[in-house]
Amino acid sequence: MSCCDLAPRYVRAIAPYQPGKPISELARELGLDEVGIVKLASNENPLGPSPRALHAAQATIAGMALYPDGAGFALKAKLSAKLDVDPAQLVLGNGSNDVLDMAARAFLAPGTSAVFSQHAFAVYPIATQTVGAQGIVVPARAWGHDLAAMRVAIRDDTRVLWIANPNNPTGTFLPWVEIEALLERVPPSVLVVLDEAYGEYLPPAERCDTTRWLARFPNLLITRTFSKAYGLAGLRVGYGVGHADVIDLLNRVRQPFNVNAPALAAAAAALDDREFLERSYALNAAGMAQLVAGLAELKVETVPSKGNFLLARVGDAARINAELLKRGVIVRPVANYGLHEFLRVSVGLAGQNARFLEALSVVLAALAASEPRPDPGGRKACL
Ligand SMILES: *Cc1c(COP(=O)(O)O)cnc(C)c1O
Repeated sequence: MSCCDLAPRYVRAIAPYQPGKPISELARELGLDEVGIVKLASNENPLGPSPRALHAAQATIAGMALYPDGAGFALKAKLSAKLDVDPAQLVLGNGSNDVLDMAARAFLAPGTSAVFSQHAFAVYPIATQTVGAQGIVVPARAWGHDLAAMRVAIRDDTRVLWIANPNNPTGTFLPWVEIEALLERVPPSVLVVLDEAYGEYLPPAERCDTTRWLARFPNLLITRTFSKAYGLAGLRVGYGVGHADVIDLLNRVRQPFNVNAPALAAAAAALDDREFLERSYALNAAGMAQLVAGLAELKVETVPSKGNFLLARVGDAARINAELLKRGVIVRPVANYGLHEFLRVSVGLAGQNARFLEALSVVLAALAASEPRPDPGGRKACL
């Protein structure tokens, strides 16, 4: 008997999360110089962190012998003021993935189920399966969530419904009124986890203060992160906002010191740097336009995206990805999401976006040249 047999079947069945390839790994594998590599694979902020966040994190380093504040008092106080919610409605996570995982551990178990969309964020099936609950995958509509079908898929044993808006990896976005209408119809026995990891990238007119729904929907848990627009992916910090009773349950399954001290300090400082957030938004909007136009020029179909990334339908994605890697460009294959013809590219700095477009153009041209050309009537010539 192998020790693997000791783990529950549902754990053994988990398809592990596939992260974007680190720059250091590609450099090692292909003997490339790290400086020349462009990574547009993990939806990171190409501006780096806010300088204020950086200084705040640095100021905590000397205190590393001490445990961080396990209650995250200062960061929660800031969030509470900014969002106009009680601190008891906030839970902090080691990235918002940690909050998603807490939700699964607090509300799911063998004999329960969770509903999510096809092509939804990979952490939903992983968190669901980890605790032995059954995942109910609802076919996507136009690459995005089909909310009506998701509601119909809810069973008596369903305890969680996972929604990302905008969704990753598709970038698809649903008008908030549709989410609100869903909340009105979902049974109160189902926790709706609304993942807003990319909310800061929405155009101002399309943003929504979903926290005001909490008074009406105690079964709503909103998750947000400092990893994307705030530029703190490496520190791991995010949060959940919900009814105090839901948050109380999450705190019971939370690791005692789940958010480290530099992360707590950096996140609090990042909240104050509105200028940085606006710069990140503007850079993304410009970079998105650049990528959309560049891909259209290459006759590559894209899925309209409201995030800081874009799905590009390149065809033989595995092969094209391998060719891009040889040219020092890291993007994200998404076959594990059932999107075999697509690559997901994160919006970078203008120069990085241009590097990607140039490399893709060369790769596509080489591929087209190597393909056997149709032979017009060649056979008939023998007759
Ligand atoms: C990136 C991302 C997150 C955030 O992950 P962190 O753990 O906060 O870094 C959450 N949800 C989705 C859909 C994401 O793409």
